[in-house]
Amino acid sequence: MHEPAVPHLAAADPQIAGLVQDEARRQYEKVRLIASENYVSAAVLEATGTVLTNKYSEGYAGKRYYEGQQIIDQVETLAVERAKALFGAEHANVQPYSGSPANLAVYLAFLSPGDTVLSMDLPMGGHLTHGSPVSATGKWFRPVHYGVRRETGRVDMNDVREIALRERPKLIICGGTAIPRTIEFAAFAEIAREVGAILLADMAHIAGLVAGGAHPSPVGHADVISTTTHKTLRGPRGAMLLSTAEHAKAIDKAVFPGLQGGPHNHTTAAIAVALKEASQPSFKDYAANVVANAQALGEALIEHGFDLVSGGTDNHLLLVDLTNKGVTGKVAAKALDAAGVELNFNTVPFDPRRPFDPSGLRLGSAAATTRGLGAQEMAQVAQWIDAAVAVAARAGSLDGLKDRQVAADLDKIAGEIRELLSGFPMPGWAVER
Ligand SMILES: *Cc1c(COP(=O)(O)O)cnc(C)c1O
Repeated sequence: MHEPAVPHLAAADPQIAGLVQDEARRQYEKVRLIASENYVSAAVLEATGTVLTNKYSEGYAGKRYYEGQQIIDQVETLAVERAKALFGAEHANVQPYSGSPANLAVYLAFLSPGDTVLSMDLPMGGHLTHGSPVSATGKWFRPVHYGVRRETGRVDMNDVREIALRERPKLIICGGTAIPRTIEFAAFAEIAREVGAILLADMAHIAGLVAGGAHPSPVGHADVISTTTHKTLRGPRGAMLLSTAEHAKAIDKAVFPGLQGGPHNHTTAAIAVALKEASQPSFKDYAANVVANAQALGEALIEHGFDLVSGGTDNHLLLVDLTNKGVTGKVAAKALDAAGVELNFNTVPFDPRRPFDPSGLRLGSAAATTRGLGAQEMAQVAQWIDAAVAVAARAGSLDGLKDRQVAADLDKIAGEIRELLSGFPMPGWAVER
C-alpha cells in the first residue's frame, strides 16, 4: 500500500487512488534504472502533500505581493539557507518550477534573443534546453555545440576551447543528460573567462553526487548552477539556481517576475526536507554507493559483452551501445520493461539511427541504490539484462515481443526480479501482511 496512506483520496476519487496504488506497486516490483529518477523519502512525500499548496507567495521572503506570508517566508528561507550551506554557494533561488524553466531563467537573465550559446549537442548527451532546435532555447537563441570524441566517448576540452574562440558565445553550458564521465568545471570556467562568457553548470543529473562529495562541485567555477531537485538529489520535482552574489539579483528577477508567478510552496518545503537529508553523513555513503553500484553494473555488463560509451562511468550513469547485440534501443527497452527492468532507450554519440529508435540504452543507479541494492545485486541485474536483451534480439522487433514464448521468457525474469526486490524496502510503499 502507498505510504503515507491515502484514505481521503480513496473515498473522494477511487479511480485516481487506485492508479496511485498501482503506480506504487509498479515502482516496488521493478528494478528502476532510469538515470533521472529516484525514490524520495516518506518525509519528502509528506511535505509535498501539505496545505502549503494553498498559499500564493509571488515575490521573495520579506518582499511579497500577497499578505499572510508569516510562515511561508520561513519555509522558503530555510530552503534557501540549506541550499547555500549544502553546496557552499553565495546565492540560491529555490523557486523554479522544474529544470527546464530554471534553465530558461538563465537565458533570460543574461541573453537577448539571437545571442550565441555554446553547449553540448543533444544527441551527444546534452539537454533539450541547451539549445535543441525543437526547444524555445534553440528557436530564440543561436546555439552552437560541442560533443564527445568518437574514439574516447568523452568531451575534449581543446575542442570546446576552439569552438568558443571561433563562435564567441555569451553563455557556455556544461552538463547534460547522458554524460557518464566527470565534468571538468575548472576547464570550462577557464574557457568562459577567456571568451568573456557566462558559465552555466547544469548539474541536474549529478547534484546528489556533488552534495555527497562523489563528484567535484561546480561552485567556485561556474557563474550560475542550475539543478533539478528530483534526480540524484532525491527531492521532490523542482529545481534550484545557485549563483555568485554578483549574479543574485539578475537570477532572482529572471525567475520572478521574468518567467514565473507564485512559487509552489509545498514543493519548496519538500526541497528543504531533501536538502536536510542530503546534509546528513548517511547521504555521503549514499552518493558513494550510487557510484560504486553504477561501476559494478558497468563492469558486469562489460563481462556480458556490452559496449559502454567511454568504456565505463565515473558517476551514476551508463550509456550502452547495443549495435553489437543486434537489437535496437527501443526494442531492448520494451523487452527489459516487460522483464522488470525499467530504463530508457537513448541515442549514443554518432548514432546512425533516429532519436525515436536509437542504438542505445541509458541506465542509472540512483533509485536502485536508495532501495539498498549493492554490488552483488548489480551483477545479478546485469545477468538479467543480458538475458532479456538476448530475448529481444531473438524477437527482433516490437511485434516480435508479442510472441507467446518471448513474452513468457521475459515474464519469468520479471518474477525473479520481484522475488529479489521483496527483500529491499521502498520508501512510499508499505508491504501488506
Ligand atoms: C532533467 C534535466 C533538465 C530538466 O529538468 P525538468 O525538470 O525535466 O524540466 C535540465 N537539464 C538537465 C541536464 C537535465 O538532466
